[in-house]
Amino acid sequence: LGIPSVPLTLAERRTSRQIRVGTVPVGGGAPVSVQSMTTTRTSDIGATLQQIAELTAAGCQIVRVACPTQDDADALAAIAKKSQIPVIADIHFQPKYVFAAIDAGCAAVRVNPGNIKQFDDRVKDIARAAADAGTSIRIGVNAGSLDKRLLAKYGKATPEALVESALWEASLFEEHDFRDFKIAVKHHDPVVMIHAYRLLAERCDYPLHLGVTEAGPAFQGTIKSAVAFGALLAQGIGDTLRVSLSAPPVEEVKVGIQILESLGLRERGLEIVSCPSCGRAQVDVYTLADKVTAGLEGLDVPLRVAVMGCVVNGPGEAREADLGVASGNGKGQIFVKGEVIKTVPESKIVETLIEEALKLADGMRGT
Ligand code: SF4
Repeated sequence: LGIPSVPLTLAERRTSRQIRVGTVPVGGGAPVSVQSMTTTRTSDIGATLQQIAELTAAGCQIVRVACPTQDDADALAAIAKKSQIPVIADIHFQPKYVFAAIDAGCAAVRVNPGNIKQFDDRVKDIARAAADAGTSIRIGVNAGSLDKRLLAKYGKATPEALVESALWEASLFEEHDFRDFKIAVKHHDPVVMIHAYRLLAERCDYPLHLGVTEAGPAFQGTIKSAVAFGALLAQGIGDTLRVSLSAPPVEEVKVGIQILESLGLRERGLEIVSCPSCGRAQVDVYTLADKVTAGLEGLDVPLRVAVMGCVVNGPGEAREADLGVASGNGKGQIFVKGEVIKTVPESKIVETLIEEALKLADGMRGT
């Protein structure tokens, strides 16, 4: 009596239109991209470019910069020109900054046409300028800034309210035959957020930018984002994402990449498989795992390293990984590609693993 095997794949990705954020395609089957947002004053060009460089090095693919003042708008051209990844200008209310961002060569603009319409109805001009320049737009509906009309209608920021708002915003561009936009419907509560995106995914074919807004400090925000994005991505919903953390933006990128790697939506980089340790552990697994992780940080190859505390599951996991250690009796058996290559004293485990990992990495890169 066998158990039928199930395919190890997630639900098929939702079919969405494809737009481009500069060089990065979003939607239409393109890989799910990871975004973040700078925390510097955008007008401080040097500091902003420095942070963008750090984000790029961490694997960020699209970066957003806030543009609340004329000084920020004036800085956009230099930033867009020198950034290695596409830049999105984040603008509320002021149409003049939207035109400035388009002229500056920003890859995209985050702006809600509803806000623009309220102050100075230049949505048509924005749609034309964006289309002419090949600049895409993100419509970002957020529970905290939901249209008063919809708050009155629904009582609070329900999934239906978020989606009605998003579709209304979209219609303001559709009226002018502009459809190069992606949409976000963010809420701080993952349950509301998940329902909102599911509802929106049924109602339109625009690419969707996933986000849990105000997700909180690093630990809580990471959990909330992983749970919410995981539920949606496993269902095939989501074309690009930003993890929002009250933490340095590089952390957001690391979490976003890990979420995609965990679901097999992005090729894995370095993966440390370490046991939680238990009463059988014969080494300090936490310290060992931390030291190996720190020693291999930034390694840019798909390598799985197993750090195991004893001989119960140790040899099995170590054998399955590219490289691993099964510890016991003050020693560590080092496995490479399933074979024990040597046994070293406990004090040499970390350096041996790092040495062997670097050799494997060189082999993978063909150096
Ligand atoms: Fe415990 Fe050994 Fe399993 Fe680690 S590998 S959790 S030490 S039984």
